[in-house]
Amino acid sequence: MRGRPPVVVLRLGHRPGRDDRMTTHVGLTARALGADRVVLGSDASGAADTVRDITDRFGGPFEVDVVASPLSTLREWDSRVAHLTMYGQPVQEVQADVRGSHKETPLLVVVGAEKVPFEVYERADYNVAVTNQPHSEVASLAVFLDRLFDGRELDREWVDADRVVVPQATGKRVVESGEREAPGSEPSGAPDGQRSAVDDDTDAGNAN
Ligand code: SAM
Repeated sequence: MRGRPPVVVLRLGHRPGRDDRMTTHVGLTARALGADRVVLGSDASGAADTVRDITDRFGGPFEVDVVASPLSTLREWDSRVAHLTMYGQPVQEVQADVRGSHKETPLLVVVGAEKVPFEVYERADYNVAVTNQPHSEVASLAVFLDRLFDGRELDREWVDADRVVVPQATGKRVVESGEREAPGSEPSGAPDGQRSAVDDDTDAGNAN
């Protein structure tokens, strides 16, 4: 996020076909919850395209890098590393340390898919568990980023968006960027509960 050293999410172990949707959601979660960049393997180019498309439409800044060897990205990273793993230390016990170091230095956040090589555990400055129960890289990334940013990511501003979701108690409303009406003015799009001013199928998960 702006004004802070970069947070980069590295996806390891992507299995084409089986992990396509999960890898897409790692990228979307990284973007939505305050990371600056996601690094995906070249066998996850479909996921990369989807995350870039969402960034083009809904804003950034957010970068998607596709690399031949995600493990090489880890080996070449010269700052702090947090590896999310059910075998690590509880996030609630290490979050203060991680936040403290992130005030000064960039952070690489590593999530796996299949079994993660042991060198990742050894390289990591923090092996972080979001509970010591097995679940998902998407869930652990979301909780970790929220703890890292202490909720500030929920209020971030997006730049260069084509379209903006206008929060509704009920229904969907999406408008072209710049069309957000002033409080009290007439809405410019479809009535609440109907298709919005911008005809947008935003369920990115369906892209993969
Ligand atoms: N048994 C696998 C392993 O060796 O880590 C679990 C793979 S799990 C399906 C995929 C990824 O989800 C893991 O590599 C880790 O990044 C993340 N993950 C799953 N459970 C987690 C937890 N409790 N805390 C932190 N991360 C977790």
